[in-house]
Amino acid sequence: MMGVFEQFPRTALYKLKPEDSGNGFMFESAGSYLVRLAYAHRKAPHHFLRHFLNPALGQGAVSNDLFLNYGFSAMNGYRPKAEMYLNALEVFTGQKGVGLLSMLPWKSLLDSMGKGLFHPSKKWCPECFQEWRTNKEVLYEPLIWSLKSLTICPVHQCLYAGNCFECGAKQYMVQRVLPIGFCPECGSFLGSEAKGMGKKVLSKKEQYLLDLVASRHRVTENMQLLQLLRGGIKIVMAKLSVTSTKKLEQLLCFSQATISQWLSDGSRGTRPTLSTLLNFCVAVEVSPVVLLFQHDRIDPVAKVAELDGRKSYDNADKYDWVKQQLTNIVDGHSRVFSVKQAADQLKVGVNYLRYHFPELTYRLVEKNNVLRDEKRERRNRRNVLLVETVCQDLLGAGVFPSHNYVRKALKHELKNYGFGEFTRIWREVTERL
Ligand SMILES: [Zn+2]
Ligand SMILES: [Zn+2]
Repeated sequence: MMGVFEQFPRTALYKLKPEDSGNGFMFESAGSYLVRLAYAHRKAPHHFLRHFLNPALGQGAVSNDLFLNYGFSAMNGYRPKAEMYLNALEVFTGQKGVGLLSMLPWKSLLDSMGKGLFHPSKKWCPECFQEWRTNKEVLYEPLIWSLKSLTICPVHQCLYAGNCFECGAKQYMVQRVLPIGFCPECGSFLGSEAKGMGKKVLSKKEQYLLDLVASRHRVTENMQLLQLLRGGIKIVMAKLSVTSTKKLEQLLCFSQATISQWLSDGSRGTRPTLSTLLNFCVAVEVSPVVLLFQHDRIDPVAKVAELDGRKSYDNADKYDWVKQQLTNIVDGHSRVFSVKQAADQLKVGVNYLRYHFPELTYRLVEKNNVLRDEKRERRNRRNVLLVETVCQDLLGAGVFPSHNYVRKALKHELKNYGFGEFTRIWREVTERL
């Protein structure tokens, strides 16, 4: 008899296989798996958590917040709670790799709080749902739908949906009642046919994100991903002939000290957020998978090199470059942008601009004057309108809008009035009454 049990070890829960429709990145999320597992036992997910999973793990009551506010980080993330649930589900279902349904493989690489990792509410691809339903396939939610850096379905190149098409409700992060693919508020199906809105194109950042997510099998236990990242960055620096992280940050126009912090072991050291890591990869055109796991293939190209690169131009190149940039500034700016600011941005002196490009500089000044006038005009209109409104309100309440009463009613706004402006406007307005 023993032999039979050894061959077919029993598990506490139904041996539900996680879904995966391919491409390496369309595998199911932990939150979705939990919901499907609950329904495999004919239980609504909140019931399943409250009456089975939480008692089994010595956890307290299930709060609604899990479904509403932090469901993604509690199930799809790598914080301690997620790890606990996933380990338990792996044991209870006997399914290897349940931990890989979350961002858990990237725990040693990314910042511990998981900042900006997930969308603040559920997103889904209506065309994926529709296609699976038409083909009588299982409805599930891939992990990538919950990741904030992705806004387009890579399979259908359409934007994700965020509200029920019938009732407009936002959806729980982890489905509380009703199976995946149906709105818990009104019961409607969340899929739809293609709307013919035209195909969207994935950005480089989004492609890199998919590459990274799909490479989860490369991560082995106790692998020090942060060390691999540091090694990768050092190769990037060597290949770009950059000698310090400060110079690298300048070259890539990366905010100061970010990359140095990734490389620092001390108390100032921080791990990257997913979004900044991907930004870095885009800036040097190296896929995160190469940066981490394929160091011999690192071949960076520095993207935003124009400012520093300019130093090696000869004078004619510099002249043309500055002229072009200044023209862009003059034509493009819609807020006051002083000649000094332009000079700072282009790393030249104010006099250089005035001497070489008198006409452009003049246009910049003129445009700023117009913008300042417009701003003043807008502010004036607003201030008059406020006084008028208060006066009307007071009159409506049977009170004469005296200087004092109106002043009192506007007390928080008075700082936006210039010297003597309030009195002048008040006089004009009350004369018209
Ligand atoms: Zn899709
Ligand atoms: Zn609905």
